[in-house]
Amino acid sequence: MSDVIVGIDLGTTNSEVAALVDGKVQVLAADGEQIMPSYVGLSPGGTLLVGTPARNQYVLYPEQTIKSIKRLMGDNRRLTVGAQTYSPPEISAMILRALKDRAEAALGAPVRRAVITVPAYFSDAQRQATRDAGAIAGLDVVRVLNEPTAAALAYGADRQGERTVLVYDLGGGTFDVSLVQVHGDVTEVLASHGNNHLGGDDFDRLLLDHVLGRFMATGGADVRADRRAMSRLLHAVEAAKKRLSFEPYARITEEHLAERDGVPVHLDLEVSRSEYEQLTRHLIEGTLDSLHQALSDAGKRPEQVDEILLVGGATRTPLVSALLEEKTGRVPRQELHPELGVALGAGVLAARLSGHDVDRVLVDISPYSFGPSYFGLLDGRPSEHCYRPIISRNTPLPVSRTESYFTMADNQEAWQVCVYQGNDPNALNNIPVGRFLIEGLSRVPAGNEILCRMDLDLDGILKVTATEKGTGLAKHVAIEGATTALSEEEIAQARRRMLALFGDEDEEDLDHPDLEDDLEAPDAPAETENTEERAGRDRRVAISEARALLERSRRLLDRMNAEDREEAIALHEGIEESLRAGDHDRLGKATAELAELLFYVEEG
Ligand code: ADP
Ligand code: MG
Repeated sequence: MSDVIVGIDLGTTNSEVAALVDGKVQVLAADGEQIMPSYVGLSPGGTLLVGTPARNQYVLYPEQTIKSIKRLMGDNRRLTVGAQTYSPPEISAMILRALKDRAEAALGAPVRRAVITVPAYFSDAQRQATRDAGAIAGLDVVRVLNEPTAAALAYGADRQGERTVLVYDLGGGTFDVSLVQVHGDVTEVLASHGNNHLGGDDFDRLLLDHVLGRFMATGGADVRADRRAMSRLLHAVEAAKKRLSFEPYARITEEHLAERDGVPVHLDLEVSRSEYEQLTRHLIEGTLDSLHQALSDAGKRPEQVDEILLVGGATRTPLVSALLEEKTGRVPRQELHPELGVALGAGVLAARLSGHDVDRVLVDISPYSFGPSYFGLLDGRPSEHCYRPIISRNTPLPVSRTESYFTMADNQEAWQVCVYQGNDPNALNNIPVGRFLIEGLSRVPAGNEILCRMDLDLDGILKVTATEKGTGLAKHVAIEGATTALSEEEIAQARRRMLALFGDEDEEDLDHPDLEDDLEAPDAPAETENTEERAGRDRRVAISEARALLERSRRLLDRMNAEDREEAIALHEGIEESLRAGDHDRLGKATAELAELLFYVEEG
């Protein structure tokens, strides 16, 4: 096994090492942790610390701890740690050495060769410094790979013909956006822009100031000069920030954070996502300027971008993808864990260089979106069938997310939580997967906040919980097999079942079905149905089938060759026209043709 090559993401804040294990490129872990903080330090006792322990002591002993060494690569400066001084490549080498040890422990074999990633804008001197760091750590750097190229490799963009890919990378301390042209094995960076001093650390600092301000204003102590307290606060605030990516609120509690007149003072407060978004919005909006700059440098219009890939832990912030989607009209892809994407891409190249034919990196993802229906505005009209997913398709599993909903009536004592699978803003165009009732809500004016939490595990079991925020009253339901890919026939059956339940009502103003919680609904009442009723039902089934097929086909467009795509788009238009015109014969023909086309695309 002397031919092992590993892929390393040597990041400003965090670093990772990936390799081919059991035929799959994986990020290697030590003690269950895949991410290693890029910190190096000397403990008070004089021991060399790399990774998490070094990071943990950073606020306490900043003069003995080095962070963000990547920013100094290519610089001739020397850094003092304890009694010694080191060059930037020497410090980076300590991180690389720790990653090499981690890889050898995980693989059970010596590791001597590596692919290491660098930002696209790195100069020759910075790249050479990175190679030197590798050599000092005992690694032969077989390739220095651009980070956006690594991301494109991890997502498999190189296996889909010529693509223009926009890689948006917001890490701990740096931001860059690159436009990459991918054609098979050849990847060209067309333009790269960014800010070398912007990242998640800045978000932490803004939240820290905000929390400190609230703490001091509500009778807490001034702890700004107390390093130990600040260190605890910084950790607590970063953890809260991460939670806010998945939940609308985060509680921060630190017992005995300080003392005032000899009396312990505790910190206990709640931050909402919207509060946090107000603090950081301007920073995220600023990144969009770089995006436009990169596009214009490359002479590309936003429509010419085939896909947007999200890289860097800070892109988990929901406002990032929301603003990107708003500005570009494109849903960014983030199905690889954003902190791991670059390392995985380096791992893909490393595996190929050692002679293995690996394709894109595969992770377990949810193939569907899930969410509850709620009362809101649908096409400008009030409706109880509004829908917005809580879990979006392509999200890595397992996943837990919570969103807020509000009651629509005064003294509303119950909410019928109807859970759907799909993406259509009209819940009724999605597939119902379960429902339950939360009763006994407080008798308060409209706007009572209910938190809806969804947990989807690797076995495809979806747990949905609704909790009244004010009282903690909760009700939940578990739905099994939520992610098992339904066949077309199963989807058609589910729709038929649903339509039958809705009885003879017009599809446009369907009410919630009156069915059992387990959705074991009776089949269509065949005996009592007359010919006319059956024809009406068949038509409704055909319409829902056509819509489901359209949705599936749009999802597959990316995977089609130019000719198929053109044909599919023509068929989409045909289907939409016949839906509008109510032309059922034409609808039937176009649907059949599209189904056949999709069959070949999915098989091929
Ligand atoms: P880099 O590659 O620049 O070293 P990473 O890509 O590992 O950095 O990103 C680290 C940053 O991502 C940190 O600021 C961290 O707090 C942030 N981060 C990680 N998870 C989340 C999350 N769930 N929500 C928001 N930010 C996150
Ligand atoms: Mg990284």
